[in-house]
Amino acid sequence: MANPRVLPFILFILCLASSSFAEQKLLVFLLDGLRYDYVNDRALESLPGFREFVEWGVKVDYMTPDFPSLSYPNYYTLMTGRHCEVHQMIGNFMWDPKTNKSFEIGANEDSLLPLWWDGSEPVWVTMEKLKRKVFMYYWPGCEVEILGTRPKYCRAYSSNTSDAEFGIAVKDALQSLRNGSTDMAAVYYERIDAEGHHNGPWSSQTQNAVRAVDRVLKDMNQQIKDLGLHDDLNVILFSDHGMTDIYWMDKVIELVKYINMSDVLQIKDRGPVMNLWPTESKLSEVYDKLKAVEHMNVFKKEEIPDRFHYKKGKYVAPLTLVADQGWFIIQRKDKLPFWNNGTEVNEAWQHGWHGYDNELMDMRAFFMAYGPNFKTNYRSAPIRSVDVYNIMCHVLGVEPLPNNGSWSRVESMLKSRASLAMSLQLGSCMLALVQYLFLA
Ligand SMILES: [Zn+2]
Repeated sequence: MANPRVLPFILFILCLASSSFAEQKLLVFLLDGLRYDYVNDRALESLPGFREFVEWGVKVDYMTPDFPSLSYPNYYTLMTGRHCEVHQMIGNFMWDPKTNKSFEIGANEDSLLPLWWDGSEPVWVTMEKLKRKVFMYYWPGCEVEILGTRPKYCRAYSSNTSDAEFGIAVKDALQSLRNGSTDMAAVYYERIDAEGHHNGPWSSQTQNAVRAVDRVLKDMNQQIKDLGLHDDLNVILFSDHGMTDIYWMDKVIELVKYINMSDVLQIKDRGPVMNLWPTESKLSEVYDKLKAVEHMNVFKKEEIPDRFHYKKGKYVAPLTLVADQGWFIIQRKDKLPFWNNGTEVNEAWQHGWHGYDNELMDMRAFFMAYGPNFKTNYRSAPIRSVDVYNIMCHVLGVEPLPNNGSWSRVESMLKSRASLAMSLQLGSCMLALVQYLFLA
């Protein structure tokens, strides 16, 4: 039996040692299309839920998305820490000439084929491989079998998920984290992006969606306190990209005015980025004609700027068209993506879009977090979407796979292991020690 005099010391060391391997639980939110300045200091005055994240945790000035500043490429960059040309999810619309299969944003069966997703391992797949459970709510792609694995639970994405359903999902996620059903939960919310597209980034409808999320966060923060989850649960909020105003009847580039569409085998996407597969014999001609078009750039694969980390992707088209901010590329005006605002036909104009050069200010996303691993009331310098993966792995206690994130950009927002161990365990260790000394 140990010497009673050294027992308190052993107890203290054991407490510290166990704490440094503690695995915290994680709740993440992907708030689609939340531009970094929707939650600027002024906006936060009337957003008490988001404000609690700032006071209790970390807010970065902004987060630069990957190119293209579109949803699926960034969903995957965020969850893998890799650039698009590495993880291969290079667009919201893709085409594989070998199989003639297409990936299309929305509910398209072929988009769920593993071929689009198997280019990299997202953190939820790593967690499941480690026998740690993940619950995902409305997260695009959670129903896909990626590298042979699915999350423990997936409530599949639906384009008409209501604010009430989002609130229910958050409550369900918290309960599941609390009762041990899951180690990580991930919740997706779409309406901020949808309103931004339909009505513009600063419209009342977009702000209304931000406030709806804020109310759910405010309730959730209270619940986390009430349920005593504060010491065990990290909560991270982020978006995939920002949003900018478009004026698509004026700032529109109609391809039919410049090229013969029969010279093009396949076209994917529209707006800020368009992917073109011209017939082999017409590639140079199409390229030369598009080179003369104002308010956009056309790139052959090898000409795409290195800083986009895009050109080596296997689904990158022979020609990539990138519009200047606010401009919209389309075959011709009647193919513009009008939306239905309650009338019989799709005739409403879109007023916001994203996908442009990822360094543009309006494309910037946001990041906030609080919990035992994060510093409090800490304002962080800007990060990039490739950096988020390392943060999630760190707080989950998972060894990150090779990735393109920078640890030095995120390290300062996290508590050091030593201070985390102290703050988490010292209280309970001291209590045990005091009890031992008094009872001895
Ligand atoms: Zn998005």
